[in-house]
Amino acid sequence: MEDKSQAREILRSLAEDVAESASYLRELGVETLEGSTAEGVEPQATEREKTKAARQADVSGALKRHAGVETKLSETRQKPSHDTSKSPTPPKPPAAPPPAASGSPSNLYQTAMPTKKPVRKPAPDPPAPRETLFGDISPKDELSLGQPGETFEDIRRDIGECVRCPLYQGRTTIVHTEGDPASRLMFVGEAPGADEDASGRPFVGRAGQLLNKIIEAIGLKRSDVLIGNVNRCRPPANRQPTTEEARTCKPFLLREINIARPDVIVVLGNTAMKNLLDTKEGITRLRGQFQDYKGIKVMPTFHPAYLLRDPSKKREVWDDMKKVREYLNSIKK
Ligand code: URA
Repeated sequence: MEDKSQAREILRSLAEDVAESASYLRELGVETLEGSTAEGVEPQATEREKTKAARQADVSGALKRHAGVETKLSETRQKPSHDTSKSPTPPKPPAAPPPAASGSPSNLYQTAMPTKKPVRKPAPDPPAPRETLFGDISPKDELSLGQPGETFEDIRRDIGECVRCPLYQGRTTIVHTEGDPASRLMFVGEAPGADEDASGRPFVGRAGQLLNKIIEAIGLKRSDVLIGNVNRCRPPANRQPTTEEARTCKPFLLREINIARPDVIVVLGNTAMKNLLDTKEGITRLRGQFQDYKGIKVMPTFHPAYLLRDPSKKREVWDDMKKVREYLNSIKK
């Protein structure tokens, strides 16, 4: 009798959870980022998140006692993981750009700002040819690994079927930087997750879907920007790439940056920021403040995977992206 009512309670809880998961997933569409408020992003309900987490823990514990029901739970719930780029869902095509309301900041941005650089600026420090591509690389020398006039294609060719670091052992596909080298804006993440490894494209999982929305929130489309990672192979179990793995792969990204010379690079999360800026400071301290990478403005902000775990941080990311938009508009070409 007691068992029956416990089972009924579990099922009721499960049904509630499915309903809430559905609405949570709708929220991850970040409708609020491109919503009608002036700021664009509303802080999410952290209390509700906490309640949900607590209830999930309860349900999970109860279900463990009722073996057999547990599989239902895992089928019906998306579990936020540590790095989540690294999402369990299959890749989806990038979302269509939002219809910008007339007179909205997005609309103004979209109509007023060219997304391509008309003329590529020469690198301030033209790379000198070097015999040894993968010798001891000091940060100062990294850009000099590139050859003058090289293209993204040349870099891909150099990378080849890379076995330079142990990450090759677990990868399905090398995930190269995507987008037009003439883009004015570049996003840099940490390393591919499962969806990216399967598809060979950066940021296509849940974190990528959110990144698309962030890009659209400032009036651009995914195809207007460059998107890359410090590491191009998926680390096992989505762990953080080691210093050595990052040091091995990063020069390719730096060569691409040297070719593209975007006006702004947005570094997503701590690992990407530390790798590009060579800093010991954490993302929480530096986010929202423009930094410099060889004369290019760099905006550190939170990784979209982090926003999936803590949607209340969307507000900060939106603030950071507005600074990026303002800067790009201020140097409109
Ligand atoms: N997270 C990253 O840092 N990079 C990706 O490409 C996907 C998720």
